[in-house]
Amino acid sequence: MTEARRPLLDLYPNRGLAFVRGEGSHLITRDGDRYLDLMTNYGVSILGHGHPALVSALSRQLEALPTLHSSFGNDVRLRAAVALLARVPVPGGSVCWTNSGAEANEAALKFAATATGRTGFVACAGGYHGKTLGALSVTHAAKYRTGLAGLLTNCRWAAFGSVASIDAAIGDDTAAVIIEPIQGESGVIVPPDGFLRDVADLCGRRGVLLIVDEIQTGVGRTGSFTVCEREGVTPDLLCLGKGLAGGVPVGATIVGPGVAEYLFRGLHTSTFGGNPLAAAGVLAVLSVVTPDLLATVEDRGRRFREQLAVAGLPVRGRGLMVGVQVGPGRDSLLKALQKDRVLAIPAAEDVVRFLPPLVIDGHDLEAGAGRFVEAAARQANAAP
Ligand code: PLP
Repeated sequence: MTEARRPLLDLYPNRGLAFVRGEGSHLITRDGDRYLDLMTNYGVSILGHGHPALVSALSRQLEALPTLHSSFGNDVRLRAAVALLARVPVPGGSVCWTNSGAEANEAALKFAATATGRTGFVACAGGYHGKTLGALSVTHAAKYRTGLAGLLTNCRWAAFGSVASIDAAIGDDTAAVIIEPIQGESGVIVPPDGFLRDVADLCGRRGVLLIVDEIQTGVGRTGSFTVCEREGVTPDLLCLGKGLAGGVPVGATIVGPGVAEYLFRGLHTSTFGGNPLAAAGVLAVLSVVTPDLLATVEDRGRRFREQLAVAGLPVRGRGLMVGVQVGPGRDSLLKALQKDRVLAIPAAEDVVRFLPPLVIDGHDLEAGAGRFVEAAARQANAAP
């Protein structure tokens, strides 16, 4: 049974399905039907559902003190920042806690403009950075920008994967280049090897800041904690979100010292930013997403992509961020998968995207890939 949605503003697609519980890598309906969750709320539930480390950390924090304004000190908030900084390649960095990915980018854009005294940005065609006005200014898809042009800030577009195109787009007013290391929303697009490194070098040469948006790729999704680390890139600003607190809303803008020195008290604050409940979630996630777990993400991701490739369709991705280019029948394929009790999500116009829990069992991944291959074959056979 799907819920009656009239009290909710109709802004989301309706998948015609409601869940009341999660257990490991499954979501469960009121009637007890179990669905294999290979999408984790768009990459949020990275420890699956009900992970004991997360449940116990959050329960303890909920009892102790779930929220505390950042004008007061709190040990959990501070420990979460220290633990996060130990995992990201931003030497001497500081954390600004936010409540979502979009807000993490929003803060990064403000910090870049403040530090440089410039207000222009360069972003990539196909890039997705969120839907608040600043983040939307650097999000490419016209469908989200319609009618809002006057509210959006100055952004020039470059081709993803082309350093020359980014070079050409940088102007005298450019504060920063903002980029996803692998584009998620526009179809799990993996750029050529060394691209991020070359963009970082270019930003250094041209005297503009580099904001790396790892909201989807970060926290181990691709098999390293960040792609920046794998590529040997030190961003000026690094944005994280989604699964960073295992499902409690959170975002983080990690600011390098060369930017932090220009920022001032009050420049970006929010009532919930750095709340101890989210901080406890961050600490629990960091304790589970260890180098050993990341090695399994890399291996399982490789095997999963091989299992999906049996369908004979182009498979892309890294670690457990995977897209299959399925062509124009994408939405009916997603529906068929859902009927077979497997949950995946769309990307671009013709891509099925998988963002499974990082802790998923190899058998569950294999079963999911098998059901995808069967559904794709049924669809191909039914095609005129
Ligand atoms: N940046 C990237 C790369 C994303 O994938 C997303 C969400 O999908 C966002 C930013 C926006 O995050 P949020 O939806 O938490 O605002």
